[in-house]
Amino acid sequence: MQIPLLDLKAQYAGLRETIRPVIDEVCDAQWFILGPKVETFEHEIAAYCSVPAACGVSSGSDALLVSLMTEGIGPGHEVITTPFTFFATAGSIVRVGARPVFVDIDPVTFNLDPARVAEQITPRTKALVPVHLYGQTCDMDPLLEIAAAHDLIVIEDAAQAIGAEYKGRRAGSMGHYGCFSFFPSKNLGGFGDGGMVVSRDPDKVERVRILRNHGAAPKYYHRVVGGNFRLDALQAAVLSVKLAHLDQWTAARQENAADYIRLFAESPVAGVVGLPGTAAYATRHVLNQFCVRLPAEARDRVRDGLKARQIGCEIYYPVPLHLQECFADLGYGRGDFPEAERAAREVLALPVYPEMTHEQRAWVVRNIAELLA
Ligand SMILES: *Cc1c(COP(=O)(O)O)cnc(C)c1O
Repeated sequence: MQIPLLDLKAQYAGLRETIRPVIDEVCDAQWFILGPKVETFEHEIAAYCSVPAACGVSSGSDALLVSLMTEGIGPGHEVITTPFTFFATAGSIVRVGARPVFVDIDPVTFNLDPARVAEQITPRTKALVPVHLYGQTCDMDPLLEIAAAHDLIVIEDAAQAIGAEYKGRRAGSMGHYGCFSFFPSKNLGGFGDGGMVVSRDPDKVERVRILRNHGAAPKYYHRVVGGNFRLDALQAAVLSVKLAHLDQWTAARQENAADYIRLFAESPVAGVVGLPGTAAYATRHVLNQFCVRLPAEARDRVRDGLKARQIGCEIYYPVPLHLQECFADLGYGRGDFPEAERAAREVLALPVYPEMTHEQRAWVVRNIAELLA
């Protein structure tokens, strides 16, 4: 049995008849960049995230970058974030000239540990970038409290967490900015790159909108330097169709995760495979990834074995950011963030995509048990 990590062809098969006509509409209109399709999609995402305004951008990475730029964060500033995330989180901080300051994660949720944030705050700290990893929100209340006490900007990296909730509040709606990615492998994936910045403050979204188009306001008059962070109409058109299905896909991902947990509990490796823990706070986990922990010495062997048996899996992420070569000048070393380093040695993401079947999950679990035996 072949099981991909994500089956976008299966998803497209069900949507083909609704997506092809909207692509035709864009082709017939020949309006490819920004425009009405993008505006409609911005309103839909704002409503979905319970915020008044949203600005479509070119990618999740650019959503982070333009949010930092909008706040004038740059040289001499520090931004606190997690070392256990996709590269773009810290890459965007370095690109504006600021310094990422890492804080270790909570081993249960894999997210920034709020108890360790306060001790890293200095007079240069300007912002916090919590990442809702794998689709589960960070413990936001203590983070927002620290941010308010020190006058910090909070930029939520919600690239993996569209529709996730923290105590009933939507990911992206709690900080000053919420950043989303529509990279094809995210829960809401386009036919290329795309992203979105949302905010509870429409003025902030307006400033993002100006920077998105080289800081032009009005056209050809520039008071600030921005970039080309624009979203394509084709992406917006496709994403609008897909958004209508997102809650149903999320429910399927949640059912798949629950099924895995039952299957592992009944398997011969019940105590060996570490299952995702429950956060101490109420969340709606949208399961962009279902990651188990394996004994560090067996993890890579299981990964290679699954791949050899045509079962998709992936390590998100094998190298914590404080140990990346390009960040050597930040002065961090091995042992600085033990939980992030341990997670990097132990995690393995298994297929959890909405279209997968119980038989496929049982096959994944059986093969993991065999490989661990
Ligand atoms: C995917 C991702 C990004 C970047 O999004 P792109 O659209 O690929 O630029 C940023 N942060 C996290 C946590 C991500 O998973």
